[in-house]
Amino acid sequence: MFESLQDKLAGAFKTLKGKGRITDVNIASTVKEIRRALMDADVNYKVAKEVTDRVKQEALDRDVKIAVEPGQLFTKIVQEELTQLMGGKAQPVNLQGSPAIVLIAGLQGSGKTTFSGKFASYLKKQGKQVMLVAGDIYRPAAITQLQVLGEQIGVDVYAEPENKNAVDITQNALKEAKSKGKNIIIVDTAGRLAVDEVMMKEVENIKKAINPTEVLFVVDSMTGQDAVNTAKTFNERLDFDGVVLTKLDGDARGGAALSVKAVVDKPIKFMSTGEKMEDLDIFHPDRMANRILGMGDVISLVERAQQAYDEDEAKKLNKKMRENKFDLNDFLSQLQQIKKMGNVKDLMGMIPGMGKAIKDIDIDNDSFKPIEAVIQSMTPGERENPDIINGPRRKRIANGSGTSIQQVNNLLKQFEQMRKMMKRMNKMQGSGKLGKLFG
Ligand code: GDP
Repeated sequence: MFESLQDKLAGAFKTLKGKGRITDVNIASTVKEIRRALMDADVNYKVAKEVTDRVKQEALDRDVKIAVEPGQLFTKIVQEELTQLMGGKAQPVNLQGSPAIVLIAGLQGSGKTTFSGKFASYLKKQGKQVMLVAGDIYRPAAITQLQVLGEQIGVDVYAEPENKNAVDITQNALKEAKSKGKNIIIVDTAGRLAVDEVMMKEVENIKKAINPTEVLFVVDSMTGQDAVNTAKTFNERLDFDGVVLTKLDGDARGGAALSVKAVVDKPIKFMSTGEKMEDLDIFHPDRMANRILGMGDVISLVERAQQAYDEDEAKKLNKKMRENKFDLNDFLSQLQQIKKMGNVKDLMGMIPGMGKAIKDIDIDNDSFKPIEAVIQSMTPGERENPDIINGPRRKRIANGSGTSIQQVNNLLKQFEQMRKMMKRMNKMQGSGKLGKLFG
């Protein structure tokens, strides 16, 4: 996410950090480079100018030149300005009403249906009774897509495939939701490839008919300024409440994320970073500014881990680790827990300094597949006690998992090292050297 912008901004800061003495001239040249970096990232020209003018003024007002750590103070100023640019604070979604009605609008392919499913899953995890409504009357495939998602996440989907009146469908859905005591309905609407009068009128009519508590507009962040312009046009008609940015995982530049709030004056409420149901986060402008400046986002990483982690599992694992009984079954279930947290490359990008380091490395959740295959090709006895895996067994496992003996050997070696380290930590903990490391 935002790799190219991160690179360019890091380049801009270099000028300032490398200098012994900071002068008005090198502040001005750094600001100019930041402006260029923002414009290369497809940030609206006016926005880029305004934000860099403010950075320059702040640098003067706060006497960057005589600061103890001028580079650091300057970075902080930029961080604060980027945070303001993206809206300052995270903005909540209004879920008042029974049921609360959330209307989802956007162009075809922007990620509306995927987001509807993710949002439903997110709310369900918070104990809410959710219903999804298939309001796309033109593409039968869209209805099926929502039904498949609903099935996957265990959320009811209301659809009337024969009915060609979207207003009618949503009103019927609302009645049904009320009778079933749902807390929230999420209405997925039809999109078009480009801004289209008929589509806009239709969403407008649905909005009038059901009076939603929240209207969210979904945009594909990879389309940069086009995304911002589409949002602007829609907002003039629909007056939506918030923006959902999708496909940030594939967005190296970040222009939409940085300009949409300033141009449309509506907050970004959610961001989507992958195709899986877990790849959804509340949009926090300050955390995003940190990521853009290459400082990572550890808070979001911990939140993801908390959401994905099963507490009972964690306790069981903790006990096994303390008793030196951690085996390959546990290792496999750990890998599966990590995968539940979402896209691995995106997760690693949340670690400070890591985004840049892994930019060109090809890792995704499929990278775990060979390891999983090796463990799955072992017998239960072998998983519990890897010491019994001798030469012939290694060969059988390699054949069974479609990997090489070398890969099996590597995994066993790494697992052995991990076990040794756990033993050592247990010993240290026993002697009081590490305190209560495992809680
Ligand atoms: P809709 O036409 O607006 O309902 O769009 P869909 O929800 O069908 O999404 C279009 C395509 O984009 C699908 O292939 C989704 O899997 C994909 N998609 C949606 N959100 C994301 C995202 O955040 N990241 C990535 N990489 N793909 C996404």
